[in-house]
Amino acid sequence: MPTADREAVAGLPPGIAAAREELTPMLSQYADLCAAHEDALVLFQVGDFYEAFCEAAAAVARVCEVTLTERSDSTGDYPMAGIPIDNAAPYLESLLDAGYRVALGDQVEDADQASGLVDRAVTEVITPGTVVEDDLLEAGTTNYVAAVAGGDESDPPSSVGLAAVDVSTGECLVTAGDRDDVAEELDRIAPAELIAGPDAPEFAPADAERGWTTHAHDSGAFERRAAVERLEPYLPDPDRRFDGDAELRAAGAVLAYAEYTQGDDGPLSYVTRIRRYDPRDRLRLDAAAQRSLELFENRGLGASDTLFDALDETSCALGRRCLERWLRRPLVDADAIRGRHDAVGELVDRTVVRERLADALGAAYDLERLVGRISRGRADARDLRSLHATLAVVPELKATLAEGDEVGSETDDDPRTDRLRDLRDRLDELAEIRELIDDAIAVNPPPEITEGGVIREGFDEDLDALRATEREGREWVADLEAAERERTGIDSLSVGHNQVHGYYIEVTDANLDRVPDDYRRRQTLKNSERYYTPELKEREEEIVGAAERADATEYELFVDVRERVAGETERLQALADAIAEIDALRSLSTVAVERDYVRPTVRTDDDAGVEIEGGRHPVVERAEEAFVPNDADLPPGSIAVITGPNMSGKSTYMRSVALAVVLAQTGSFVPAQAASLPVFDRLFTRVGASDDIAGGQSTFMREMSELTEILHDAGPSSLVLLDEVGRGTATTDGRAIARAAAEFVHDELAATALFATHYHDLTDLAAERDRVFNLHFTATREDGDVTFLHRVAPGASSSSYGVEVAELAGVPAPVVERSRELVADEADGGSGPAADPTGPDEDDAAGDASLREFLAEEADASDPGDSAREAERGGDESAADPPAAEREATDAAASSDGSAAASTDLADDLRALDLARMTPIEALNALHDLQSRATDDE
Ligand code: ADP
Ligand code: MG
Repeated sequence: MPTADREAVAGLPPGIAAAREELTPMLSQYADLCAAHEDALVLFQVGDFYEAFCEAAAAVARVCEVTLTERSDSTGDYPMAGIPIDNAAPYLESLLDAGYRVALGDQVEDADQASGLVDRAVTEVITPGTVVEDDLLEAGTTNYVAAVAGGDESDPPSSVGLAAVDVSTGECLVTAGDRDDVAEELDRIAPAELIAGPDAPEFAPADAERGWTTHAHDSGAFERRAAVERLEPYLPDPDRRFDGDAELRAAGAVLAYAEYTQGDDGPLSYVTRIRRYDPRDRLRLDAAAQRSLELFENRGLGASDTLFDALDETSCALGRRCLERWLRRPLVDADAIRGRHDAVGELVDRTVVRERLADALGAAYDLERLVGRISRGRADARDLRSLHATLAVVPELKATLAEGDEVGSETDDDPRTDRLRDLRDRLDELAEIRELIDDAIAVNPPPEITEGGVIREGFDEDLDALRATEREGREWVADLEAAERERTGIDSLSVGHNQVHGYYIEVTDANLDRVPDDYRRRQTLKNSERYYTPELKEREEEIVGAAERADATEYELFVDVRERVAGETERLQALADAIAEIDALRSLSTVAVERDYVRPTVRTDDDAGVEIEGGRHPVVERAEEAFVPNDADLPPGSIAVITGPNMSGKSTYMRSVALAVVLAQTGSFVPAQAASLPVFDRLFTRVGASDDIAGGQSTFMREMSELTEILHDAGPSSLVLLDEVGRGTATTDGRAIARAAAEFVHDELAATALFATHYHDLTDLAAERDRVFNLHFTATREDGDVTFLHRVAPGASSSSYGVEVAELAGVPAPVVERSRELVADEADGGSGPAADPTGPDEDDAAGDASLREFLAEEADASDPGDSAREAERGGDESAADPPAAEREATDAAASSDGSAAASTDLADDLRALDLARMTPIEALNALHDLQSRATDDE
């Protein structure tokens, strides 16, 4: 985001400031609005355009790609740029994207009625976190602005308060915790904008690209007294409602900011509930876990979807938003989890109900945002009609939930589960509101609410009388032409209307002699004259007067209806919640049925571990034609050390276990044949730096600081995924760190963990520690192709084969020989061969031979099947090599004084190869390339 831009043009443009003393009244009004909105770019309504001047104009022209013009008046020339008001959305979006806050300085007085300068005021400040325009918001998402405040003496030490509001829906959340807790919550809430109190610690988004912009708005709003005053209209006795000052001040500040952006018109009446919560009541998933599990963001690690995409079969925006909230905060209360499973199960069983609900919900509009607009007084007649259509769904939902699977069946006349029964009871039909809207609002109203056509006939007698007068007048005029032709005998006489002159009777010059005495001349045209008669004039005034009064009456009636609807904000919000939950549960049941998910058993006893039969990765399985299901059996506190070649399925396997946990605790069924799971309270994932290249954050430092967090915070109820940790540094260090971390997780934390590693000697841990066991993935070779089975098996895989690849790539023989020696030394002097009895203790020579043979076969593909059996023993795990060994080999190459410069280049190239991200065939091709270059060099 070009922040420099923003600094330059927020508030009063220097060009205007310089001329401030001599500005015309209009520009001086502009200057006042700018000066009052120091952090925003003011767009100033001039007729049908929003204009900006001087430096602000240059910015608007640049960002919105509109022409920079000039306004000249008696005081000078001012650069000017404008955007059309009735198509402002795309331009506003560009400005927001470019990092601007935009204050809309609207004309708040009818230009025709104003004596002198039209009054203008900022009616709204559009900021990334507070946009309410539907055009600028993605459907079915949340858009929060958050505030953070530091604690004081009354708070627990190092406490930070966090409050967030979605200004489009009125949802308001408040919590507090230490700095790390709050950082985690911020990542989860993912606000678009963060307002930082003067005493708050700094929070940077985990992902700068998609993260929030931080902003220091009016620090006075963070003061305790100001916060209490601000909160009073929202909840009685704010002083006693919060756990500490930090929460209270964050809540006060975020609402102050939200009000400011809505034109500072007082409390936001649709913020009806301020929900305090404890982050510990939810499965804690920090940003790193959310990212690496690709819950909401795809990082190109597996298929091109996210877990949310895979799970989202919602029918309406309400359901989508609810499902997203659930997935961002999976539950930790076993009964609550089972409650959701019960409801999903009921809908899984009741196909007819499930499908009818989906159909009915499809007609529901985004009630949360509608209610927001209605109570902000921004809703138009179409919004009320959308509300009506949504309310019309409610009786259908109620009836469907109560209906049996077969129409007319007596047995299933009620939802069977508490959850659905409760939801059915919460479906408030709001019949009086529905009828009010239906009686009052036209079925297909225009977007404007001031120009008539929004109120239905029969709703208001006075209005109907005005419209009748208007109609009769128009009919009289319509008949006038025929009547006057008859009276005057002029066949070409016509009656018309134009904006300036109103109604007229037109007679061509040839017939002027037949014009009657009572015609008064109105206008002379080239070949004709236009006239009016006193009666026509009278009628015209009648028509215009009636129409104007009717339009005004309609507007008043409309506003009145809108206010009456706004009076039911709380009930409407409660209804929105119920509809949202029904849709979310229904979506989960649809996914369960269509993708063959199973209800997990949720266990809370002490020896409940992860037991999954035939588990699948919910996202990868959708992209992979033949996904291979795998079992998982992790007793509490156990660590599975997983080895195997790159691309064999280690990461996918670990993630599918973690995703099963996330899904289950969200209330979803899980992709497996059978599953029994404990309730975890935290889930950690760390992906080794060089495996995390897609994130663009491949620093070893980061990996280690994340590891630190785990080692501090994980406990017996945590699930920990460590994927190639220690990879980002020198082998010896990396290996040592990986081992020490695994020992610590086992001995000190007693967390349940999955640990994929290319450090083969880590498999020794199984012999040394009770609750550590080995798993491995293998590959096989069929018809000359390396094939990964993607099947997990007990025991460790064979040791590494990187030296082999180095040799194939053309690293000179002496270096390769020396590498072999070093590997052998290491094996002798190190922790010895794999001690796990189930793991194959591979003879390196066998591995070497198999790859060489394999490539020989590739070159001469006449007899591909011969060594397949040998390959089965594991010697073929070489198509993609573990970079650790690769690095050892190339380090050796660099230090060997006997090798030529050419081979150093090759070594560099080899090092640059990112084999971890290649398919086996790509890897082989790349190595072939290097090999042939090595041959050329010789
Ligand atoms: P590793 O971590 O061992 O390098 P990955 O887990 O990243 O391997 O898997 C590599 C690719 O293999 C995945 O992107 C996926 O396409 C495929 N894959 C992984 N597991 C399976 C499976 N169980 N069934 C089918 N394909 C799989
Ligand atoms: Mg991997």
